[in-house]
Amino acid sequence: MAQVKQEETLKKIVSHAKEYGFVFPSSEIYDGLGAVYDYGQNGVELKNNIKRYWWSAMTLLHENIVGIDSAIFMHPTIWKASGHVDAFNDPLIDNRDSKKRYRADVLIEDEIAKFDDKIEKEVAKAAKRFGESFDADLYRTTNPRVLEHVAKRDELHNRYKTAMEANDLAELKQIILDYGIVCPISGTKNWTDVRQFNLMFKTEMGSTADGSMTVYLRPETAQGIFVNFLNVQKTGRMRIPFGIAQIGKAFRNEIVARQFIFRMREFEQMEMQFFVRPGEELEWFSKWKETRLKWHKALGMGDEKYRFHDHDKLAHYANAATDIEFRMPFGFKEVEGIHSRTDFDLSQHEKYSGKKIQYFDPELNKSYTPYVIETSIGVDRMFLSILCSSYEEELLENGETRVVLHLPKALAPVKACVMPLVRKDGLPEKAREIMNMLKFDYACCYDEKDSIGKRYRRQDAIGTPFCITVDHQTLEDGTVTIRHRDTMEQERVAIDQLPQLINSEVSFNALLKKLV
Ligand code: ATP
Repeated sequence: MAQVKQEETLKKIVSHAKEYGFVFPSSEIYDGLGAVYDYGQNGVELKNNIKRYWWSAMTLLHENIVGIDSAIFMHPTIWKASGHVDAFNDPLIDNRDSKKRYRADVLIEDEIAKFDDKIEKEVAKAAKRFGESFDADLYRTTNPRVLEHVAKRDELHNRYKTAMEANDLAELKQIILDYGIVCPISGTKNWTDVRQFNLMFKTEMGSTADGSMTVYLRPETAQGIFVNFLNVQKTGRMRIPFGIAQIGKAFRNEIVARQFIFRMREFEQMEMQFFVRPGEELEWFSKWKETRLKWHKALGMGDEKYRFHDHDKLAHYANAATDIEFRMPFGFKEVEGIHSRTDFDLSQHEKYSGKKIQYFDPELNKSYTPYVIETSIGVDRMFLSILCSSYEEELLENGETRVVLHLPKALAPVKACVMPLVRKDGLPEKAREIMNMLKFDYACCYDEKDSIGKRYRRQDAIGTPFCITVDHQTLEDGTVTIRHRDTMEQERVAIDQLPQLINSEVSFNALLKKLV
């Protein structure tokens, strides 16, 4: 039941996103292209605001973080050095009956999550039963039914972890069979063997006559930062610790592309590599965990919607890794990864390029290969988390329902909509005047069609924090009605108070100040 409801919620969000110009399926008139999407007139504004929030938080608030914009195409040896040519694989498995393809690791992780759900349900049930005196931690460590689920969960988890670490594809299949995992479409266990699949897209550069070169579309933006480490460090006279930030497109030939813009084949990342002294990386790792969670929470979408998920299986380059997960309608899911990448990448590039990539530390009076903490967040996943968290079908006192997006106000595509009450008597001209005053600072729109009620609904649906109505009284005393999106309250204010009033709620400045 709950599962059905969650799927329905996501479906509603997907159709709302399309209807109101946030996200369209790519190449729609040609029936779309799998897991590729376009952002519409409101989507692009929201997306740009997310990027601006991240970029400002990195580069304005940290003197020692600078940005770059590296090319998508890079020398193919970079991907050999980074390990992507050999190891950027997902284990895939097909169901012979439905002909659907899955990631074997995801099927097993979903099975593990079922045990977690059972544990949480037991705890929630007991909390209800015992009321105030309930000690959840004690219950988790003593209740026999909970302990049984925990033991089963751990057994599966350990088996899975061992198989992943050993790259044992036969064992992954055996786990799927032993736990009776079925294809959600066909409902059968008629599985193929598990195979590795490399996620990088390849293309040719140069004409074949000259001897063309195989190049890859970058699967992450990080390598563009590593190969520019010395360029930036030297030209920017950067001293360790310092960071390099980048926002840009990344491409992965994902096996299973479901859940809307959660898993796309072309997406955008915001990555920051922070270079530190060897031995200090775990301290910085904790600092960045905290800093990044604060960035998310400052948006005010609800602290309970976030959690950390520490990795069991560390990537080949990492000595610590965690995800910031967000509660989507389909469960807690990764939105951002924070990794302690050691000196792996810089050392590999030194080895493969034959160029010395080291830093001379004047305080220690010695050279070394810096260690790296990476924070990596998907713009599109962040976008989806905001959309899911903001979408509400609100039942009003008069029995009507309004669909409203409670977007964090600084990120809203439109900050204020100016509306003349009627399309005559000089009200449109006055409304335009107000819009011309505001438009240099805020994305504004003008709407004079339909009843005021309908116009309010249109703005609610795209998350506009303020509607400003110009009426006959405006011409007499220079006041307007300002209506607040979330409370629907209206107040009468003087036109010259508008900039300050809007600013107090939508400014990036105020949002960024929450971070320091
Ligand atoms: P997953 O386990 O979901 O495949 P990942 O661990 O491979 O993700 P990273 O390589 O750590 O992801 O990438 C960093 C961030 O980039 C992720 O936290 C996510 O927000 C985003 N991201 C990764 N793959 C995709 C994708 N296919 N579509 C959209 N965003 C993505």
